[in-house]
Amino acid sequence: MSGGPLSAETIACARCGRRVTAEAPRCPECGADPRTGLSGFRDGARDRVRVCEGVGVRLVALAVDFVILSAVFLGIGLLVYLVLVGAGEFAVVGEEPPSWPLWIIFSAAAFLYFWIGEARFTQTLGKRFFDLRVVRTDGGRVGYGAAFVRTLLRVVDWLPAAYLVGATLVWLTPRRQRLGDLAARTVVVRSRTMAADEIGTSALPTVPWPGPAPAGTGRDHA
Ligand SMILES: [Zn+2]
Repeated sequence: MSGGPLSAETIACARCGRRVTAEAPRCPECGADPRTGLSGFRDGARDRVRVCEGVGVRLVALAVDFVILSAVFLGIGLLVYLVLVGAGEFAVVGEEPPSWPLWIIFSAAAFLYFWIGEARFTQTLGKRFFDLRVVRTDGGRVGYGAAFVRTLLRVVDWLPAAYLVGATLVWLTPRRQRLGDLAARTVVVRSRTMAADEIGTSALPTVPWPGPAPAGTGRDHA
């Protein structure tokens, strides 16, 4: 058969593990030939590297996550309210339900959103917006255990307000890690294309690709 445009057979990229179509000439994440894991840049003067990201873009991604969570939560809340009104549950004027169960439910939903999102997909929707991924400091995949730890410690990183502890640690640590990252041994990365001489001399903190290291490339600058 000639193979129509919808034949979407996928393979795991040999360098970064991302699922790509079997015919893809170059992996969009790591820039390698997905079948060999070798750098897809023909002249070798450039390559894709994963750089640990700092406070700015991470806070913006976080704000997006909370907008999404709040919108979903308000939508569901409104729906429940309308159903209850329809059922005549709020017939007594002036009688309001206590608000604390809502905060507990919202916190639990937010916890599951960050935990499952980062463990299953390596990113939440907010991080996906900015091509951010959570990975281990050795470049490997973050699992459910590490994602659980970094999500749990968001509470401490938030203290005393607005992620002050977390942001300060990200500024101070060489790999830009908040407390949850330090405890879970994770970093937040974004892949960028850099010139080879820039990769060699750059002070930017990077992590290696998780796949088998192709000889002579990819790993020596990590
Ligand atoms: Zn790749």
